[in-house]
Amino acid sequence: MPKSKKKKTIKKKIAKRGRPRIKKEVKAKVKAKPAPPQPLIKATKKMPQLLRGFKDILPSEQKYWNLIREKAESLSLTYGFERIDLPILEETALFVRSVGKETDIVEKEIFTFTDRGGESICLRPEATASAVRAYINHGMLNLPQPVKLYYIGPMFRYDRPQSGRYRQFNQFGLEALGDFNPVLDAQIIIMCFNFFKELGIESNVQINSIGCPGCRKEYKTQLINYYKTQKSGLCEDCKNRISKNPLRLLDCKEYRCQAIAEDAPQIVDWLCDDCKNHFVKVLEFLDELEIPYNLNPYLVRGLDYYTKTVFEIWPGIGQNSASDENGAEQAAGKDAAGKKAQSALGGGGRYDNLVELLGGRPTPAVGCSIGIERTILKIKELGKDVPSQESPDIFIAQLGEAAKRKALVLFESLRNEGFKIAESFSKDGLKNQLDNANKLGVKYALILGQKELSEGTILLRDMEGGIQETINYNKIIKELRKRLGL
Ligand code: AMP
Repeated sequence: MPKSKKKKTIKKKIAKRGRPRIKKEVKAKVKAKPAPPQPLIKATKKMPQLLRGFKDILPSEQKYWNLIREKAESLSLTYGFERIDLPILEETALFVRSVGKETDIVEKEIFTFTDRGGESICLRPEATASAVRAYINHGMLNLPQPVKLYYIGPMFRYDRPQSGRYRQFNQFGLEALGDFNPVLDAQIIIMCFNFFKELGIESNVQINSIGCPGCRKEYKTQLINYYKTQKSGLCEDCKNRISKNPLRLLDCKEYRCQAIAEDAPQIVDWLCDDCKNHFVKVLEFLDELEIPYNLNPYLVRGLDYYTKTVFEIWPGIGQNSASDENGAEQAAGKDAAGKKAQSALGGGGRYDNLVELLGGRPTPAVGCSIGIERTILKIKELGKDVPSQESPDIFIAQLGEAAKRKALVLFESLRNEGFKIAESFSKDGLKNQLDNANKLGVKYALILGQKELSEGTILLRDMEGGIQETINYNKIIKELRKRLGL
């Protein structure tokens, strides 16, 4: 059949078939389809601003982050902790159940919202609960115990922003799940201490035991009885804490409440034999390694899931005994000005009931988390010299279009050979390029111009001495290897 005739027949067929018929129910569905949603975000002319309490981490800051990440990773691996990466969004219920309904984190600070599916989810305020969820979800209970995990990542709390306190901040955390042994509590404390020591930050350990639910029950009764007699002198938050969260009465930041806490019964006097023995053993291990610590009866930590050992790492040198005046102040959890210190670098403790609380079989565990921003602030405050990222050895400069093309190729060849190189190909002037090379502190600059191209050579400039030599282009890799001792 001729082509034109064939086309006509196809057209006819289409015309005959007409529009496809839509079944009734499909039609109904199409009709019932809701109107497309209106955009949630209205464009405004106002310049978008960084959210309060959030921070950009600029390139100039990255050297601190690299240093900390490297230290955290090498320390964790040496002590047998493996990396876990957990999601940033979790069900809100995970933290309500674990951290506790009556805690500041859940009551005031959690970033929670309903997602498009109607589920209540949140930006994680901490990662221990997530690590426990993962431990249960992935059947890690069946692996050889303890399972030792570490994580590094952002947490979110709707806190009042101030120096060292942000709404998004990062933590390096350690969790050892599946073992009761007090040596694990000690090991985690030692790791925190070593982390700061190796970063050149002096720190001390504040430590307490808040017992198990058994001994805490009797202690709480005593605590409530005492605080009922002191109610009129307490701040409004503490008045509520008497019935809601009595342990938190002990670490209130208000002076008047701190004064009342000084005469409150202390948990160590109410520990059962098991909790007492556990605590003594942890302290003995710390003594063995001469880790400076202060027994701090006011340290309770703000989260419901802790049992037995709780600790915080504070900046500065600690006292092993509370016998002198300074030691007594430190033991009371106060700084030199008599004010309760608020800038813990990290903290943690044992949480023997959390796995079961979240639906797993009874599994003891202990962990900690260290604030990365606060660690960086401390490094800066101490004026520590932090080396920049690896600086390049060689800079490639070029003059003219043809040289630029050849320089691009040379850059790739040197990169493949493993050299550390830099360039500023978008710049054309030689002075500009050599200024950049100087700023980067490279040892050698390679210069390619029209003359070198036609001669098959390249200029090799020693940036320190300023001496320039002409080298055969094909021998440049060999020459660079020799000069850099590679
Ligand atoms: P926490 O989970 O509250 O025990 O906190 C552990 C560590 O995380 C603290 O000692 C701080 O170093 C750090 N941290 C906690 N909250 C914040 C925050 N809002 N901003 C910056 N760092 C924080």
